[in-house]
Amino acid sequence: MIITVASGKGGTGKTTIATNLALSLPAAQYIDCDVEEPNGNLFLRARIDRRLEVGKPLPEIDHQRCTFCGECARACEFNALAVLKKKVMVFPELCHGCGVCSYVCPEKAVGEGEKIIGVAEVGVVPREGEDNLGFVQGILNVGEPMSPPLIKRVKQFAEPEKIVIQDAPPGTSCPVIQTINGSDFCLLVTEPTPFGLNDLELAVGVVRQLGVPFGVIINRSDSGDQEVREYCRREQIPVLLEMPMNRDLAFAYSKGIPYVREVPAAREQFRRLLADIEKELRRC
Ligand code: SF4
Ligand code: SF4
Repeated sequence: MIITVASGKGGTGKTTIATNLALSLPAAQYIDCDVEEPNGNLFLRARIDRRLEVGKPLPEIDHQRCTFCGECARACEFNALAVLKKKVMVFPELCHGCGVCSYVCPEKAVGEGEKIIGVAEVGVVPREGEDNLGFVQGILNVGEPMSPPLIKRVKQFAEPEKIVIQDAPPGTSCPVIQTINGSDFCLLVTEPTPFGLNDLELAVGVVRQLGVPFGVIINRSDSGDQEVREYCRREQIPVLLEMPMNRDLAFAYSKGIPYVREVPAAREQFRRLLADIEKELRRC
């Protein structure tokens, strides 16, 4: 089962939920898909066993064959090509690696190269007396604007026999869609504030479009107002967990220690969360 922990905005506690949930389950794997700012490992401190460079396809122009007809540049949706008199320029930052330029070129002058955009790291989080927690994270190169190819690659390390917890990037744009797509269930983490509600509505729009079953977690649930709960009630969205402000959790967080390591009894609420997700899935 693949469970993605997402949220319409940053700072809601998504990584706290994802890391603690993963640590509470016996046969689990944590995948940090927030490749622009992977911070799950600040808490998990995984032992990294493999590190692989990840690239995205990038067109390579054979200037011997090219007639400078301009067909490729006209077809490129992303303005990533400029055809000059005697040269075709490729702008790697704009290219999405879609391959359309190669498809339309009448001279077969567009080959496929690669641009390295980051690394994928694979390892384990050692756990005493139980199976190690599987760990994967992607790290996007600084200045690289295109994260979905790296997210796609790190997701390929998911181990089908485990419960995979994917930590999504914040927001509702392409990297989030790339992460959620193919998940069995999505947990949307929010907070009971007007900002939280606004971004939750956007995130709900995304998961509904993708057809992924989902539920909501309200973090810092003893603050703010009732609007998020009202919205969930109106939209018949299950609220699977409410987490009030918790001094122990905040203290552990400030030291980079996962809450369930500091307070092992807290694992129970995350195990119950998994049982509730399974119940929701049976209802779908
Ligand atoms: S479509 Fe092919 S031949 Fe035409 S400009 Fe592009 S690379 Fe050159
Ligand atoms: S691969 Fe796609 S995005 Fe990149 S240059 Fe070619 S047409 Fe444009």
